[in-house]
Amino acid sequence: MIRFFNTLSGKTEPFQPLSPGEVKLYTCGPTVYDFAHIGNFRAYMFEDLLKRFLQFMDYKVTHVMNITDVDDKTIKGAQAENITLEQYTEKYIQSFFRDIEILNISPADHYPRATAHITEMVQIIKTLLAKGYAYEKDGSYYFNISKFPDYGKLAKIKVEDLRSGSRIDGDDYAKESVHDFALWKKNKEGEPFWETDLGKGRPGWHIECSAMSSKYLGESFDIHCGGVDNIFPHHENEIAQSEAFSGKKFVKYWLHCHHLIVDGDKMSKSKGNYYTIADLLEKNATPMALRFMLLSTHYRKMLNFTFDMLAQAESAVQRIKDFLYELKNASLPQGENEDVIQIITTAKNRFTEGLSDDLNVSKALTAVFEAIKKANILLAKGEVSAKDAEKLTLFIHDLDAVLGLLPPEEESLLPHEIQKKIGLREKARKEKNYSLADKIREELLDQGIILEDTKDGVRWKHSLKSKP
Ligand code: AMP
Ligand code: ZN
Repeated sequence: MIRFFNTLSGKTEPFQPLSPGEVKLYTCGPTVYDFAHIGNFRAYMFEDLLKRFLQFMDYKVTHVMNITDVDDKTIKGAQAENITLEQYTEKYIQSFFRDIEILNISPADHYPRATAHITEMVQIIKTLLAKGYAYEKDGSYYFNISKFPDYGKLAKIKVEDLRSGSRIDGDDYAKESVHDFALWKKNKEGEPFWETDLGKGRPGWHIECSAMSSKYLGESFDIHCGGVDNIFPHHENEIAQSEAFSGKKFVKYWLHCHHLIVDGDKMSKSKGNYYTIADLLEKNATPMALRFMLLSTHYRKMLNFTFDMLAQAESAVQRIKDFLYELKNASLPQGENEDVIQIITTAKNRFTEGLSDDLNVSKALTAVFEAIKKANILLAKGEVSAKDAEKLTLFIHDLDAVLGLLPPEEESLLPHEIQKKIGLREKARKEKNYSLADKIREELLDQGIILEDTKDGVRWKHSLKSKP
């Protein structure tokens, strides 16, 4: 039985999707006003783990992640650079997709963009007006929170804190300023706008997720995720808009991950502790160490990023790879070892039990590494047969469907120039030109690549560059 902590109920609940065997999942995607940082990827990684685990448990998952390509921040950015909104957001959208691929995050089924769904948003706002949940003021449209008695049920806001009648125009605001919020903003000089039945203007931030989730997943669906900062006002407002519009329960399970901080501090550009994926790759972090680091802390705990943690993640991933390598290369006796079957069964059960317990990833990873440790002992004693090795290899790859740490194309992630150098060194070694071979090895070390000569040829590992 899978159980998740549901922000809506404040409890850990058994997971039962609306339709047996199928899960409809919506996750709030990037606001493309800047390059995504590792905090954002903490959220996307937790969502990836959730999705992969549900698939591992044989659910058919339909996953939608929106791209916020119009809001206060994107408009401000485009204005500052004096380019169109589209020109401004495109580079960040492309960079987001690149990072997703680098981190082996499995792609969503749909990545709807807000600017491509204005008609759907206007339609919802018109219905909210007709039903008396929304009103117009000076050409902008607002949601009247006093008309929606359940307002505050997700963020646990007390009714007496509600300030209906006074309005807030900004997309993002703190709980202390809970007000009627903007659904549609009247056009301002110099801002992009759409000519619609509501007049010239542009949508508020929250309405896009109500419109795009219902378009692709239906008016009621199973799971909605984001970081804790999304609970208020974004997700609270989504519930109000969607439930007022449809009269149905919007989402059954709300899952939120806690924040990523750096060395105990909030990440900010001014503090110089702000990292994008590209920043860390530049420091020779490997994509899979980053992946491991982002996924190995339980999603409801604060993740404190440090370079030590990244180095530990690096060696954890290496331990898995080394294990697979040993399995491939050990000289093996015949037959089958009962202990191997035992190791695999125990680990698989613990792995599944762990993740079923509100995605307890620590328990799941412990199961994997315990199994590796025990199997390594058998390997060292020469008690693992070819058949056992095959079973163990399969077992690791099975679980990796959830962990995603062994993408087949890892090798090709090495820059071409480095691959070429490895080839040249091999050639030099064959020609017994050891001084050249050593020179190339040193150069590669400078570039963060450690070479190891084994009886089966050369192997390489990344080394972390020293701290910034
Ligand atoms: P944004 O691009 O700001 O709309 O955020 C995209 C996603 O990243 C949302 O789900 C946020 O909650 C999440 N997020 C933003 N900052 C952090 C952080 N420091 N740690 C974890 N998640 C974050
Ligand atoms: Zn959203």
